[in-house]
Amino acid sequence: MDLYEYQARDLFEAHGVPVLRGITATTPDEARTAAAELGTPVVVVKAQVKTGGRGKAGGVKIAKSPDEAASRAEEILGLDIKGHVVKKLMIAEGADIAEEYYFSVLLDRANRRYLAMCSKEGGMEIEQLAVERPDALARVAVDPLVGIDEAKATEIVAAAGFDGETGAKIVPVLIKLYDVYVGEDATLVEVNPLVKTGAGEIVALDGKVTLDENAEFRHPDHEALADNATTDPLEVKAKEKGLNYVKLDGEVGIIGNGAGLVMSTLDVVAYAGEPYGVKPANFLDIGGGANATVMANGLDVILGDDQVRAVFVNVFGGITACDEVANGIKGALEILGEEATKPLVVRLDGNNVEQGRAILNELNHPLVTQVDTMDGAAAKAAELAAR
Ligand code: GDP
Ligand code: MN
Repeated sequence: MDLYEYQARDLFEAHGVPVLRGITATTPDEARTAAAELGTPVVVVKAQVKTGGRGKAGGVKIAKSPDEAASRAEEILGLDIKGHVVKKLMIAEGADIAEEYYFSVLLDRANRRYLAMCSKEGGMEIEQLAVERPDALARVAVDPLVGIDEAKATEIVAAAGFDGETGAKIVPVLIKLYDVYVGEDATLVEVNPLVKTGAGEIVALDGKVTLDENAEFRHPDHEALADNATTDPLEVKAKEKGLNYVKLDGEVGIIGNGAGLVMSTLDVVAYAGEPYGVKPANFLDIGGGANATVMANGLDVILGDDQVRAVFVNVFGGITACDEVANGIKGALEILGEEATKPLVVRLDGNNVEQGRAILNELNHPLVTQVDTMDGAAAKAAELAAR
């Protein structure tokens, strides 16, 4: 999960990284009030969008009074920056910038390590610097078991070519930024620019943080950082129910057990649907325990997709037995009652398949059609969705 700058700023502050004060605003009036509250002679009005290059796109502007902050806010709100429409701003204290540096630490999967990058030439787009003058961007491997301690931070600032005095001021900031990286289970912490002010202070003026969603269980507070406004509402609903769901653009709802089976189901349905002009509507892996509640939750999410016209339930019984799944489907239809309105094509195979099929035969539900093979079931689901 990528964070907004203001969220990164808050995490930085919580870990003792020097940052400037900032207040979010969603209207010009709020921007005026925020600027007045900050009370500094200069404030910066900054677009909060999850993309870089906001400065160049006109999304970062200086204001010298609360009224000017309101005018700048008016200009920036609604701006389209690389496909991201600005709905939120951060009004930040203005910094007196003497120099702009760059620092990041990220996961280096290929080398099973972390990688720190640092440059005396921040501010500009770092990708451009990396290509045009790779020597100006120091890359230092970080052993995850050791991290960025004083010795490593000193090595990083030396590799970037900082003089002793400036380097010594940056070292404690890098240690704290690493604290953010490890403490929050991030896969990226980037500061561009990390600035030296006229007074010689080091301050993180921008922040980009990506959190590792697999570590969410360790961070109950991270849930509040999720930006549901920009996520598909069905995906939000699925996530609340603990389902592995991805919304796609199609008419055939898909439920399967196991990510591999669901992926191949998408392929088979895409192929079977081609003559009818229908496509898979989603990815949904209900995993191992396909009980009635999980099945009902899955169906509920899929039936909430207005585009869906038929659902293909494709289950291969391994650890989960087909009779359990069949009972899950039966229970789900009972739970959903009138809300189940679209045809279901069910293909069961594997562990206890006979018992499973018998349960559904006995149920004899008007919406349920059983087909024994995956290809046959995909064709049937596509045909029903095309009707
Ligand atoms: P980005 O373009 O999305 O990376 O947004 P940044 O937050 O990095 O801002 C872009 C540029 O605006 C920075 O590199 C600075 O040069 C400038 N900037 C940002 N905040 C301030 C500030 O407080 N004072 C001054 N003078 N310039 C700022
Ligand atoms: Mn930046």
